[in-house]
Amino acid sequence: MAEKIIETENLTYSYDGNMAVDHISFSVEKGEILGFLGPNGAGKTTTVKMLTGQFAPQEGRARVLGFDVAQEPKKIHEKIGVCFEEKNLYPRLSVKENLEFFANLFGIEVDIDSLLKRVDLSKWINDRVETLSKGLQQRVMFARSLINDPDVLFLDEPTSGLDPISADAIRNIILSEKKKGKTVFLTTHNMMEADKLSDRVAFINEGKIVALDTPENLKLKLGKKALKVKMRTEKGFEEETLPLRDPETPKKAKELLEKRNIATIHTQEATLEEVFMKLTGRKLEQ
Ligand code: ATP
Repeated sequence: MAEKIIETENLTYSYDGNMAVDHISFSVEKGEILGFLGPNGAGKTTTVKMLTGQFAPQEGRARVLGFDVAQEPKKIHEKIGVCFEEKNLYPRLSVKENLEFFANLFGIEVDIDSLLKRVDLSKWINDRVETLSKGLQQRVMFARSLINDPDVLFLDEPTSGLDPISADAIRNIILSEKKKGKTVFLTTHNMMEADKLSDRVAFINEGKIVALDTPENLKLKLGKKALKVKMRTEKGFEEETLPLRDPETPKKAKELLEKRNIATIHTQEATLEEVFMKLTGRKLEQ
């Protein structure tokens, strides 16, 4: 059986009686990217804070790399990398100086050149952080989270607020870390990102996990794969949607093919956003 890198059981946290994370239980296996997908305020950051030893769980428990987050947070810190939304960098220092500073702080010798290659930042090694774009600063944050060559990465909304090209650069870095065997816990409210990167996705809403499965299975569960048939008519175009699982579909498709002018025909999958909406009645992006 695959090694469990993260395990939680009834993990719970509330702020002054307001439940933020409500008895969640899940596990993440070695080498897996788990996408933790939910709208703003769903409880994602609070979960990451408990898993990384910043908040002690108020109920339930969590283990990371076999260590209990409440009892052995130091052991966990040595072996994890964390990338939060807020930028904890020194703006006046260069990229290299920032990374050297944090390496010293952790008491670790680091080959800065190879670290920067890993996040494609070599070109900016001597630039002051304050002169870099948001996307490049995020890559410096990523490099920082890799200083101790961690086994597990906790990435909290790593592409939030970035332009599409910078966001894609970050996503490619995440995938290349997975190829190196890292386990990744990724929070996001971007369903395309969760779909593209995750081996499995947990939907989180109002502090609860409402579904957890591979993106494929989540989409197929709804049986929403459909045949979209676009027909030319006198008025322009008309579209008909035929659910693939409907036994009547082959007959109807044949009739349409015989009678009408077909412009295009293709199958279309449900998106994770549609599945999330169906399960919770809420949108991911607000
Ligand atoms: P976002 O994407 O907006 O960061 P999230 O899914 O990470 O959302 P959390 O930040 O974990 O969600 O917040 C979960 C709930 O807890 C929300 O209702 C939020 O308002 C509340 N909350 C978060 N931090 C605090 C705090 N420091 N004090 C009081 N309530 C908080």
